[in-house]
Amino acid sequence: MVDIAILDFGGQYVFNIKRTFLELGYHAEIFPFDINLKLLKEKNVKGIVLSGGPYSIYVENAPRISIEFLESEIPILGICYGHQLLIEMLGGEIVKSDTGEFGFTILYVDEPNNPLFKGLERKEICWMSHKDIAVKLPQKAKILAHTKISKIAAFNYNNIYGVQFHPEVFQTPKGYIILDNFAKICGLEKKEWDVREFIDKSLQEIKEKVGSEKAIIAVSGGVDSTTLAVLAKKALGDNLIAVHVDTGLMRKKESRRVVEYLKKLGLNVIFIDASDKVFLNLKSVTSSDDKRKIIGRIFIEEFTKVADSVNAKWLLQGTIAPDIIESTRGQADKRKGKKHGGSIKLHHNVGGLPKEIKLKILEPFRELFKYQVRIIAKELGIDEKLVYRQPFPGPGLGCRITGEITREKVILLQEITKIAEEELAKYRPSQYFAALISSRYKPFKSMFIKNFLEDAFSYISEDYAIGVKGDERIIGKILLIYSKKWNEKDWVDILQFQNNITGKYNEICRVVALLEKPRRKKYGIILRAVDTLDFMTAIPTKVYFNHIAEVVHKILMNFDEISFVGYEITSKPAGTIELI
Ligand code: GLN
Repeated sequence: MVDIAILDFGGQYVFNIKRTFLELGYHAEIFPFDINLKLLKEKNVKGIVLSGGPYSIYVENAPRISIEFLESEIPILGICYGHQLLIEMLGGEIVKSDTGEFGFTILYVDEPNNPLFKGLERKEICWMSHKDIAVKLPQKAKILAHTKISKIAAFNYNNIYGVQFHPEVFQTPKGYIILDNFAKICGLEKKEWDVREFIDKSLQEIKEKVGSEKAIIAVSGGVDSTTLAVLAKKALGDNLIAVHVDTGLMRKKESRRVVEYLKKLGLNVIFIDASDKVFLNLKSVTSSDDKRKIIGRIFIEEFTKVADSVNAKWLLQGTIAPDIIESTRGQADKRKGKKHGGSIKLHHNVGGLPKEIKLKILEPFRELFKYQVRIIAKELGIDEKLVYRQPFPGPGLGCRITGEITREKVILLQEITKIAEEELAKYRPSQYFAALISSRYKPFKSMFIKNFLEDAFSYISEDYAIGVKGDERIIGKILLIYSKKWNEKDWVDILQFQNNITGKYNEICRVVALLEKPRRKKYGIILRAVDTLDFMTAIPTKVYFNHIAEVVHKILMNFDEISFVGYEITSKPAGTIELI
């Protein structure tokens, strides 16, 4: 029995949809978008949700559902691409908009009494990620809401609903109410979800699969891998060996701390220093995919060596849902039939893995988000300090350096990271760090910027960063805007400004506020802090620019090779959290 079937159109947030329903107390399952309606009826499905996706409905071969879905009595809710697909099928029209919407957007609710929108006010915040818009409403359908750019931001026709925005992400604060309303429209009743049950099921899965064989577990020291290590130890005892690899891209002295902590948890730990190998292999490599693939390959080579030496057959990894989603979808032109393809980024533990791996891989947290892993960690009695430790990516500082990764850049970034973290931690963001880019930039003029900050000077960096727009990856540019007036601006207006800029200029996926004019030195520093719960979407943390100005000044005074230090004001979308 499945309460709600989510049809997967390749969107970034399919797991968010599933998770939100689970947390609300409904049982939701993900199916391929071309699933047969008859099959869903056999499973007694009571509601159907069409996810977002990187596709455009007006291009040839766009993924679709058959018309019988619209004629069935099962309520349907389309989200983003799903919304666009429903409108088109019902006789409306979708076109590419001159201006996309990425991130924070004001939603004007026109029909607060519609069952989908019960509990909403006339003006709400929603989270957008799209380039296409509906320009013609199907006959007899009703507009339920609009935004400045999307005149049809939500619609209803009989038991068919669509929303252009994403109710499944945290930054749509009333989104879960909308999904709960939809479940009620489907006539569903709630049943609770249980962490303990998840732990028991995972323990059993690990015991059954690994049996009496030996396993190694890859631990970076972050909450995902450490929690899995503690859990797996309960299932495997001494047959589990933890392996920590220092890639040379960790923060200063971090590997030492990690190994000590793992030992304190009672784990058998093997430490590998692979830093020379990493730097050697990264020489002259500039593409982000290549960097991530090389790091992924080295990790596996080292794990395989250790496994051979202790005769282990299994590799356990603390992979979580965002790693899987971002590594396996996100490029519309890479779809093959029902299989979505491409990636936003190749996470070293998923997309960056080499094709041939000798070890059998087990990833019990594949469908979880970080905050759920944190709940498990607390349940297992792991130290609060670790549970709430900010995430640090597997490829480490490698994700925070554009162009070639050299020891010189890493050492410089390690030092600056200490200063940046100390300041940014005060705002208690979910993740915060410094990134290093080159100082090659050109002037960039835009009326948009002048209208917002009349004294601004703006520059476009020649370096590339990774972004996500409309559920699709973009390798885009970094816009640097210097102004003395940043601290006079209201934070909500800054968020809207970022949305306007990234919506207008497709090639831009990062916006950085500079508080001092750039000099002509070697490198630039981007300070980044974001608020998020699940890392699929994120909002830049509100900071006090006069405090940030002090840190900027300190970095410029102490590090002669730095041209500028800016604070990034990009949400995810249009950017990602890490730089590359
Ligand atoms: N690719 C479509 C757009 O840009 C849909 C995006 C989505 O589903 N998030 O509008």
